[in-house]
Amino acid sequence: MIKFKECPRCQGDLYITEDGFGRYLSCLQCGYLRDLKQPVPVSQMKSQLDSRLESAPAAATLQEAELEVA
Ligand SMILES: [Zn+2]
Repeated sequence: MIKFKECPRCQGDLYITEDGFGRYLSCLQCGYLRDLKQPVPVSQMKSQLDSRLESAPAAATLQEAELEVA
């Protein structure tokens, strides 16, 4: 996807690209880069982490602790 003549630096053409860290805009003419908003909000990531911790059985955590001591 290309956004024509929207580069704030050179008024060149921006295109939307993506890598392991997320999506960002890049300018064809001058190489200007700008991150786009992350698809997953931080608050949503935190709630997913909390639910994982709550669902983890306490017995497994206890066994791991005993192994570390031994
Ligand atoms: Zn540019």
